[in-house]
Amino acid sequence: RELELAHEAMLAAAPQIKARLSSNENPWGPSTAAIKAISDTAPKSFLYAGPVTMELRKAIAEMNGVSPDQVLLGAGSSELLMASLLMAGAKGKVMMAETCYISGRDAREDGATMPTIKVPLTKDYQYDLDAMDTRLSADTSLIYICNPNNPTGVMLPSAKLSSFCDAASPKSTVLVDEAYIDYAPNPATDSMVEHVRKGQNVLILRTLSKLHGFAGLRIGYALGQPATLKELRKYCSGGFTVSTTSAAAAIASFKDKAFQEMVLKNTAESKKFLYDTLKSMDYTYLPSSANFVLFPIKVKGQVLLQKMMAEGVSVRSWFFDQQNWCRVSIGTMDEMKAFKEAFAKSVS
Ligand code: PLP
Repeated sequence: RELELAHEAMLAAAPQIKARLSSNENPWGPSTAAIKAISDTAPKSFLYAGPVTMELRKAIAEMNGVSPDQVLLGAGSSELLMASLLMAGAKGKVMMAETCYISGRDAREDGATMPTIKVPLTKDYQYDLDAMDTRLSADTSLIYICNPNNPTGVMLPSAKLSSFCDAASPKSTVLVDEAYIDYAPNPATDSMVEHVRKGQNVLILRTLSKLHGFAGLRIGYALGQPATLKELRKYCSGGFTVSTTSAAAAIASFKDKAFQEMVLKNTAESKKFLYDTLKSMDYTYLPSSANFVLFPIKVKGQVLLQKMMAEGVSVRSWFFDQQNWCRVSIGTMDEMKAFKEAFAKSVS
């Protein structure tokens, strides 16, 4: 969170941003149907959101083949992720990849330490499920798998992850963070929701911040066993942070398939432009199953970030595997062209 706050402060202080390519947002969203739902429901905002959030839970349950008591809403998935880590940290250790969305977090917000087991990625930057299996012990309370992973964009083969869920879930809760699953080749079969349907100790986290362009509207949800969700509620608002307007917008956005297709098509086009740009400049990249791309750079991340920021383009950097990396979120074609120009100047 501290890194996020520093990043937000940097964005706020930036003179003029031409392309904000640092937080994996979706510049094509939210859909017009979602915006209409917001203005239609805004006058009713003096009422608590109960009936609308119940309708949203039912819609999510139906879409995922689970029952409404297997769905817990949050103001974005961050709330539910933090709650899961607090819940797990109170009982044992959290296993995660050395490089993943939460690998920077091994302290709880209250200052207490969250015990973690960090497992390096494989040589091809995948989760090392075999090593995770070997290191699993009786005091592992949660295994965090981000699939597709952030910051790499790399996805696990579904059959392999599915076998891992079968084997590990009797020993520990397996949390699969599917924030980017909508960008995967086959979201329906690449998702691990089937394990929730089978009654296993698997928790899925999803967000509308990505494909639906809801980063500022804040809707996320967890799919899991009712007993797990009941426990999770002790560590979060239990869905009470979700507003009427955002819930109504989410219902509308789920129905708007044409919008979702448009976002996927534009994302693919911009991603191809980025791949071509990097190739033409002799840079490699990790082929991505998400709306961002990670690639190795030849200078320190912070040096590149500052040069890019001076050109009005925000990106992010990482250091792992003895290598500096830059992560670029997929933006509109104009934004990708701004990236190309700024990157060429920054590395020349
Ligand atoms: N999980 C992953 C892997 C993410 O990359 C993000 C945000 O970028 C989140 C969860 C949290 O997203 P939100 O709180 O907007 O749902």
